[in-house]
Amino acid sequence: MSRTLHPSTIVPPGFRVESAVDDGAVTIITVRDTGKSSSCPGCAADAERVHSRYSRRLADLPLGGRQVRLIVVARRFRCDAPSCPRAIFTERFGKDVLAPWARRTARLESIVHCLGLALGGRPAASFARRLMVPVSNDTLLRVVRRRGCPPSPAPTVVGIDDWAWKRNQRYGTIICDLERRRPIRLLPDRESATAQAWLAGQPQIAVVARDRGGSYSLAASKALPSAMQVADRWHLMENASHAFLDAVRKSMRQIRAVMGAAIINPELLTAAERLQYEGYLRREDANAAILARARGGASIKEIVRDTGHSRGLVRRVLRGQRSDVFRSRESSLEPYLEWLDAQWQAGARNGCELWRRLKRQGFRGCLRVVSEWTARRRRAEKADADSLRRVPSARTIARLMTTGRDNLTKSETVTIAAIEGGVAPLIEARAVINAFHAMIRKRAGEELAPWIERAQSSLVTSFANGVAKDKSAIGAAVASHWSNGQTEGQITKLKLVKRQMYGRAKIDLLEARLIGAG
Ligand SMILES: [Zn+2]
Repeated sequence: MSRTLHPSTIVPPGFRVESAVDDGAVTIITVRDTGKSSSCPGCAADAERVHSRYSRRLADLPLGGRQVRLIVVARRFRCDAPSCPRAIFTERFGKDVLAPWARRTARLESIVHCLGLALGGRPAASFARRLMVPVSNDTLLRVVRRRGCPPSPAPTVVGIDDWAWKRNQRYGTIICDLERRRPIRLLPDRESATAQAWLAGQPQIAVVARDRGGSYSLAASKALPSAMQVADRWHLMENASHAFLDAVRKSMRQIRAVMGAAIINPELLTAAERLQYEGYLRREDANAAILARARGGASIKEIVRDTGHSRGLVRRVLRGQRSDVFRSRESSLEPYLEWLDAQWQAGARNGCELWRRLKRQGFRGCLRVVSEWTARRRRAEKADADSLRRVPSARTIARLMTTGRDNLTKSETVTIAAIEGGVAPLIEARAVINAFHAMIRKRAGEELAPWIERAQSSLVTSFANGVAKDKSAIGAAVASHWSNGQTEGQITKLKLVKRQMYGRAKIDLLEARLIGAG
């Protein structure tokens, strides 16, 4: 059903349009309140006796692409209630229409608030200008700050973690409601006492998910002694991997001894050669993929991102500098490679002699092809012998020992085999750490106690002791489905908001923008 549009329907409810004037870029609309009375702010009685009139100038929502200025002809009333201290008061309007002293209608203010929450001061101000909403950067931030955070329901499951105001210098604390998946509070530091004070005001909290750092754990046990604490699974996994690295570090002396005396097992070498050949095929695939992407017009940066190869490698491939010991496969030597390999293993390493014998078998290539092959072969053996003599860093060894065999090169395979053969406690430590990771992934809470017992007599004792000390929270992390993972996600969002504020953020504003925007 269509109706005639009455001018009063476009101004805030409760007002009647007196006149509308077009003043260039601005539409000026004069309005009056239609009510006969207004309630006194002193005694809440309705007053009807008008003392005088005055006009209030306000900004309102834009209309037809123009800014709108409302002129409200407002009244002053006399309050006749005998006991009221107010003799005269200014007319009050509905809270959802116009606040006392406001310079914008409530409906405009709520849009300004939304813009400020979503975009922050400066970007919001320039966007607002495009929407014909004249509002300054400062005003936007003031509105966001004044409105603060909407009251949230009292949480029962919270996650608590720290975040960096300024990396390595200043930290704050974020608290999330894990059930409603919302941040609910920012605290200005990460002191135990600050967190404790906040937690103590929330006695309904039953679960606190926190990292393995001591300060939040202390705060939670003091403020909420009966709440269940849950350690963070991701940090646990990280700590476990780190414990294995420490075990490798502690074993470096034995590792060096073992590798100095390593007798290379010929059986292993053949396996390693096979790995090397598979590696070659894999590399060829990678090279082909990189070249194909480059032919398709992709930049080095894009190729690095898409394939996960290093920048240096991609560049080498594109320049055709990635050499490989098996490269001659495509040459005229191809049919004779197996025979050549066997000769080489048998000790026939003279290129000239090999070429003569090849010719007798019908090989038609020139001597250069064969001598290049022997030179490459010699170089590759030297490189492998060199890398076998060098003891890798503890970090590298830890990584190699936890990487699948299939992903190792020939010399890496030999290195790891030597270490595994000579430093047995490391194998046990690796098994212990793998068991820990598996326990967390499978949520196998019943395995925790036997795991601690086993780990305490391994190379990762100190990690095991730490786990034993925080046993109930770690048991909860293994068994319960609550996790601080989503708090990490909120921290990412917080960083984004913080960056938009160019480092000038005060905590109340940061909190309003993070939490108010929900
Ligand atoms: Zn009164």
